Amino acid sequence: MGARGDDEHTVLICKPLSVPGYVVPGSLVCKCSRCRERITVAPSSWRLMYENPGTEVVCSTCGAAIMRDHPGPVDPPTPAQLREVEDSRRRRGGHYDD
Ligand SMILES: [Zn+2]
Repeated sequence: MGARGDDEHTVLICKPLSVPGYVVPGSLVCKCSRCRERITVAPSSWRLMYENPGTEVVCSTCGAAIMRDHPGPVDPPTPAQLREVEDSRRRRGGHYDD
């Protein structure tokens, strides 16, 4: 999911590797641009980075701090990101009606 940290660039918030949970297949491991925490970047997010060359990739902790310091509009998830969320729900065997 993306958020605009300020007027200058897009901030892409990713799940840290250290946080247990679902990782989208094909995710890349990058480093948070602020704290160097290792984070996973899902394929759907590569496109965002490609389309927005100035995108800053941060972990969820730094992302939360950025949004707190720079409240602003948050980009809605892209269709690809929504598909990934659906996938993760299915894999967990949750309450997803198919
Ligand atoms: Zn960070």
